[in-house]
Amino acid sequence: MRFLSATTIHPVSSPALSGYVLVIHDDGTIEDLLPESVVDPTHVEFFEGDLIPGFVNAHCHLELSHLRGSFPEKTGLPDFLNKVVSQRQADPDAVAEAMRFADSEMWENGIMAVGDICNKSDSFSVKADSRIHYHSFVELLAFDPDRAVKALAEGNSLLEQLNQFGLTGSLVPHAPYSVSPALVFLITRQCADAGLPTSIHMLESNDETEFFVQGTGLYRRLYHDMGMAIDFFEPSGKTSLETLLPWFHPMAKTLLVHNTIATEQDVFSAVSQHTNLWWCFCPNANLYIEDRLPDIPQLLRTMPPGRITLGTDSLASNHQLSIWQEMLTILRAYPDISLEAILPWATLNGARYLGLEQTLGSLETGKRPGILHLHQDSIGRII
Ligand SMILES: [Zn+2]
Repeated sequence: MRFLSATTIHPVSSPALSGYVLVIHDDGTIEDLLPESVVDPTHVEFFEGDLIPGFVNAHCHLELSHLRGSFPEKTGLPDFLNKVVSQRQADPDAVAEAMRFADSEMWENGIMAVGDICNKSDSFSVKADSRIHYHSFVELLAFDPDRAVKALAEGNSLLEQLNQFGLTGSLVPHAPYSVSPALVFLITRQCADAGLPTSIHMLESNDETEFFVQGTGLYRRLYHDMGMAIDFFEPSGKTSLETLLPWFHPMAKTLLVHNTIATEQDVFSAVSQHTNLWWCFCPNANLYIEDRLPDIPQLLRTMPPGRITLGTDSLASNHQLSIWQEMLTILRAYPDISLEAILPWATLNGARYLGLEQTLGSLETGKRPGILHLHQDSIGRII
């Protein structure tokens, strides 16, 4: 047993405490949280600062780890996508080595679980060997509605490979401009039937809105430059979220990722139409690609706080895979938002979204959530 105390302990599932001691087994399982008056003080390890549970990274792309530092910043999403598509191929050994390094970096940064997007099987062996729990999101891209059924079958065959590694996963559509409504329905129905989470990149840039409202702009040019005919696409005159939301299965636990340009009205309208929406902010990736942040204070007026999660996105669009760095970016940009307010975003909400709240996300008896020491602006892993 270890007896850990600190200036402040944040169980996350209940208000912060001072003058308490966390009793843990050697494997990290929490035995109890006791007032310090009932614990022999000679046994207590005291930490200046805060104790918090380990983090959950709700959105990552481990597969893109070899692209760290490859792309210039602030060039906009269509340009970024073009570069990822054209330059992601690399030597398989270098790709594997970069993923292993990124995985250990996430562990050192206090991350316990990751919702990780994959387009191929490259990351499966790294995940199978990792101390981190991964839920893999097999991501499908098929804008042409005639390709929906074939794309679903390809995704399911990749899911089978994933399961052979003993890993869990589910299908996700990539983004509104790269999947058909038919494919969104097929994927989300399958996830709803299986009781598994899904996600989609959403409301990332004004170019996305222009494409859906008018059918023009950089996304049309992106398809043209890639030599892909999109004659079947008709702009809806609405935002991407309004256009696609009716195609999401109403029971599918659906994470909307980025929300960079979302407004409180977008959120209000969406949550009134779909009761199982979850939200993910990846602020450092937004700064890297679009040089802007979601208007989080505005969104908090309508976004359910218990449904907000944080993600790092990939090393193609971030300098590190650290949920703490995502939190610091939010705290620095929006001084009215407190650490206490966003701790659940970084921990318990992500655990609930991934269905891991029995073991992760908060400092509660019986859980094994990882325990982190936060002191000034740095984070360290205790267990
Ligand atoms: Zn992403």
